[in-house]
Amino acid sequence: MSGFRCPNCGEKIDLFMTGGGKKAASDFKVPFLGAIPIDVQMVKSADEGQPFICSNKESETSQAFEKIIQSIISQIKL
Ligand SMILES: [Zn+2]
Repeated sequence: MSGFRCPNCGEKIDLFMTGGGKKAASDFKVPFLGAIPIDVQMVKSADEGQPFICSNKESETSQAFEKIIQSIISQIKL
């Protein structure tokens, strides 16, 4: 997870610092898939048993998920 957008003012807060995912990917010599921001609505979706990206398609978090999914799909060789 990367960053948290304050629901009150929209400010982005890096709760867990930045660059850890990229460094880990580099250390393990695997592709860096992307950074997914934390969204407070994810908790509500999880509690309701609903996939977050289905009910929050326009959110920054869903779009980050979608970008990663499309990247993975494009790399699949059939
Ligand atoms: Zn705020």
